[in-house]
Amino acid sequence: MKILLATSEAVPFSKTGGLADVCGALPGELAALGHKPAVILPAYRQSWCCGQPIKPLGIDFIVPIGSKTVTGHLLQSTMPGADVPVYLVQQDQYYDRDGLYQADGVDYIDNCERFVFFSRAVLEAIRLLDLDIDVIHANDWQTGLVPAYLKIEYRGIPRYEHIASLMTIHNLAYQGHFWHWDMLLTGLDWKYFNWHQMEFHGRLNLLKTGLVFADSINTVSPRYAQEIQSPELGCGLEGTLQQRRDVLSGILNGMDTAHWNPATDQNLVANYTADTFAEGKAACKAALQEEVGLPRRPDVPLVGVIGRLCQQKGIDLIVEVMKQWTPDRDVQWVVLGTGDAEFHKQFEDLRQRHSRKVAVRLEFSGPLAHRVEAGADMFLMPSRYEPCGLNQMYSLAYGTIPVVRATGGLADTIVDATSQGLAAGTANGFSFNEYSVLALAETLQRACDAYGNKEVWNQLITTGMRQDWSWKQSARQYLALYARTVERMKQAAHT
Ligand code: ADP
Repeated sequence: MKILLATSEAVPFSKTGGLADVCGALPGELAALGHKPAVILPAYRQSWCCGQPIKPLGIDFIVPIGSKTVTGHLLQSTMPGADVPVYLVQQDQYYDRDGLYQADGVDYIDNCERFVFFSRAVLEAIRLLDLDIDVIHANDWQTGLVPAYLKIEYRGIPRYEHIASLMTIHNLAYQGHFWHWDMLLTGLDWKYFNWHQMEFHGRLNLLKTGLVFADSINTVSPRYAQEIQSPELGCGLEGTLQQRRDVLSGILNGMDTAHWNPATDQNLVANYTADTFAEGKAACKAALQEEVGLPRRPDVPLVGVIGRLCQQKGIDLIVEVMKQWTPDRDVQWVVLGTGDAEFHKQFEDLRQRHSRKVAVRLEFSGPLAHRVEAGADMFLMPSRYEPCGLNQMYSLAYGTIPVVRATGGLADTIVDATSQGLAAGTANGFSFNEYSVLALAETLQRACDAYGNKEVWNQLITTGMRQDWSWKQSARQYLALYARTVERMKQAAHT
């Protein structure tokens, strides 16, 4: 299978979030399974620091953007450690900037134009590079126009007519909507600007465009694929997704098992496996307590929180439970994250009032994230919604018991420690359904009770540590989805 992965970011060339991790890891796994992936993405200022050689191909191209034409250049690199070509689209006026999509927290005003250009460049690159492609795999709103150009403008051109398209939603909350006049930039006929196709409440919506024109749609967990068809989590696109439910599925992201492995992790004071976690985790816990300034107490439960401190992650619930528990419960907390100013303030208040129980680091620190994953006993993730989530998988790998709200990828990875789950040997954490302080507090209490029962606790740890959340599984599922997508496109062409 020959796949062109079109994305606005991929590790190590550029990153703002999980999209970059997926697009950095999946191609290598596809290649390892004997397939031929290639990646195309913009050449940002930060791409030049990726550590991989980037060379110009001497190929220039011109595409129409509204009433003008814009020139771009193609560059080539490779994915580290894999035989996967990476093509970078250079257009310095668009991409040679400090941030990928925004500066000082404000989106660039020409974001629509920047990604109209990129989407057109993806289609042109196929011709210019003489690529033989079975499937274009588009990701998120930035590449939402790719399936539309393929169906509308490139239809009937021999090199393109067998190419199928897959659109992956990494987070439905980000749709790329722009004012209606930006439709002119796309060069597509106004007839497509209707509420069945590219329009969304009077505005141009690039993600919706991709969802409508792609042959298949997927998202990053099976549960999230269901949830986004409901008004609660559909972000206004539930109708579009319901209409396309026959071609909509979910595939869990994998985790980077080389980077997140307690047996080899260089960030830890002690390494451990599912057989040696008792000593290893105890050493990591003591070192973490020391590092963040909490009393070194081996037997008190240590609860970890890492992530963006925002509404999506259920931080409001965590703050409330901490307020209720810190005065008299013997529990330690370590919070690592950045996000909304209000949450920063609330965590700081809690730390000041209960400095022997609460440690707070309002920063982004990869190494500390590893040490929290290893040193904490439990990991809290009561998200409002969670397309996939990685931290709960890291927690499982590190023998740190996840306490989660059963939504999206959290529901697909965490099996609650009910008596049935424990008896079946499938339980690996604690979960609850209702988004409420009470439900989180009750579930955390259940976890603290289980923490006191070493037999149960150790069973939960070993179950989680022995599970396989690697990309290999997910890559196989993507290959099956690519095959279905090609089949679907062929059938549609015959009808
Ligand atoms: P999302 O992509 O929605 O932010 P995920 O759980 O899928 O949530 O992934 C978050 C990733 O970012 C994880 O790798 C996590 O460890 C990392 N991360 C988030 N905040 C921080 C932080 N303050 N310091 C270090 N790593 C962080």
